[in-house]
Amino acid sequence: MQECYADLHIHTNVSDGFISPAELVIQLKNAGVKHFAITDHDAVAGIDEAVRRSKIYGLNVVPGVELSAEYNKKDLHILGYFINHHNKRFLDYLYLFKRRRFQRAQEMVELLVQQGIKIDLKQVTKLAGNGPLGRPHIADALIKLEVVGSRNEAFEKFLHKGGSIYVEKYRITVKEVIELIHSVGGAAFLAHPGLDADENIISELVDVGLDGIETVHSKHTVEMIDQFTKIAEKFSLLTSGGSDFHGDPEDNVKLGEHCVSEDVVKNIENYCIKHRDEWVIDDADKEDI
Ligand code: AMP
Ligand code: ZN
Ligand code: FE
Ligand code: FE
Repeated sequence: MQECYADLHIHTNVSDGFISPAELVIQLKNAGVKHFAITDHDAVAGIDEAVRRSKIYGLNVVPGVELSAEYNKKDLHILGYFINHHNKRFLDYLYLFKRRRFQRAQEMVELLVQQGIKIDLKQVTKLAGNGPLGRPHIADALIKLEVVGSRNEAFEKFLHKGGSIYVEKYRITVKEVIELIHSVGGAAFLAHPGLDADENIISELVDVGLDGIETVHSKHTVEMIDQFTKIAEKFSLLTSGGSDFHGDPEDNVKLGEHCVSEDVVKNIENYCIKHRDEWVIDDADKEDI
């Protein structure tokens, strides 16, 4: 097995992934991954369980999150690493996002009903457990109803931006997201820039405090990894990387194939320790990070 040190972008069933944090740790161990970040959408409830399990299997966890941010009407995803995921104010924000996601799912289900699809909001909420509702949960409900065969088909038919039931997600600005991540001691990275961004956008994000970009990603080609590594160097940004694994049996993303080195993880951690003095850390946290 080829050496794969760290995967810093993974979703669990706490948001829209398929497997639990406990199962994830076993799968990571089997894939030879040593260090990983759980980066659930607007949720951190899987981290403590992953830390507990990781102690048994000798793995290391970076507490993380993936937040949606608004930038010039576009939706950008920002990863937070080494965050204090117990901070009360931070959890209040996540609760607000979750409430808004619920309202959005309600609207999308209503649009499906208007199109003649017999679906009930409860069929969707059941699939999300207690976590934040996302478009993938609506896709899963449509799979159960045999309207579509996969998440991907549901996105192509209904859920893509501009699709017949698409509703915008509530989000705060990218500057606010970066400040929020800094306020809990974490570093803010632009996720999968190859899907959403270019050098111009990245340079503007640097001006509002971005710390790094994700170079390695399951949807990045080798050329993109190279291109974004060069952009990171140009703007003195940190780099990160991971699979964006969701555990979806219908996609081909696997653990142990999209990795970064131990140095990449150490650089991010040391950077956070160094910058916490200048970031406006939430008062309640000053003692415990
Ligand atoms: P939301 O945050 O509710 O807008 O949902 C966005 C999530 O949907 C992203 O995290 C992706 O993982 C997932 N997603 C986007 N496009 C697709 C697709 N074509 N197939 C499966 N999942 C997708
Ligand atoms: Zn997702
Ligand atoms: Fe994302
Ligand atoms: Fe992701």
